[in-house]
Amino acid sequence: MEIGIVGLGLIGGSLGFDLRTLGHTVKGVSRQPETGDQAIAMGIVDHASIHLSLLKDTEVIFLCTPIAAIVPTVQQLIPYLQPDTILTDVGSVKEPIVEAISPLWKQFIGGHPMAGKTTDGISAATPGLFANRPYVLTPVDNTSPQALARVEKLVHSLNARLYHCSPSNHDRSVAWISHLPVIVSASLIAACLEEDNTTVKQISQQLSSSGFRDTSRVGGGNPELGTMMAQYNQSCLLRSLHQYRQTLDRFIDQIEQSHWDKLAQELQKTQKERPRYLKED
Ligand code: NAP
Repeated sequence: MEIGIVGLGLIGGSLGFDLRTLGHTVKGVSRQPETGDQAIAMGIVDHASIHLSLLKDTEVIFLCTPIAAIVPTVQQLIPYLQPDTILTDVGSVKEPIVEAISPLWKQFIGGHPMAGKTTDGISAATPGLFANRPYVLTPVDNTSPQALARVEKLVHSLNARLYHCSPSNHDRSVAWISHLPVIVSASLIAACLEEDNTTVKQISQQLSSSGFRDTSRVGGGNPELGTMMAQYNQSCLLRSLHQYRQTLDRFIDQIEQSHWDKLAQELQKTQKERPRYLKED
């Protein structure tokens, strides 16, 4: 199959690797010519350009730009598309994107691979990034069943775990397990930086190990992506953050009051429940 990718970064580049390995011809478009040259050199795409017209004969196009560029990209792409070309995006927020694109293009399927790294850009692209990871599709009432079936088949071929849900349930769920963790993790790093004793701060930086690595990972990731998640999923993220603040206050209260039994009960519950969120571990 001829497949197009717009936005050759971590996600678009990783898709290119796997789709080419599966035998598809991959054509990639990015803003900078150097990104396309690098994608060809790395074996991510067969052809690259800075012009969307390169994708005029492709059957399926993955939209892998930063969130803010996804809808404008579709508007610019439409004049080059065949009527049955399927579009699917990988944006981390779904409701505003699906609402904007569905009226513009019938053969559109919202999607979100739940896989990432702290590094970004084409150099961070990795073969097999989506294997054993959730990949959610968010069809709506007027979604073409044929287009959905073709995107499902491609997702299965990446060895990803396929899920479906509505765009709004997607955004509310990822606020909990993806966007809240970014803000919690970033605020953890920011709080550590507020230690005013420079000796203590320096020792903390020397002693930090696996616990800090795990809890700070997503807060130390791509700032542009984190800001766009908050901007485009503002109300769901705020809802989760307010609940998180209440939960944190409860923990603070238990520690201030030396209610060790209550704190131990909370920690027993979190220890027991955590695996429900980590199916692949
Ligand atoms: P990234 O590594 O920064 O890659 C984005 C790429 O898009 C850049 O390499 C850039 O290359 C290109 N680009 C930027 N603006 C463009 C435009 N207007 N037209 C064409 N290409 C453009 O970002 P990413 O992490 O792959 O994220 C891409 C999308 O995946 C986002 O929508 C994000 O929400 C979603 N996503 C990210 C993750 C994650 O953990 N990172 C996980 C799942 C989904 P040039 O500079 O050459 O244009």
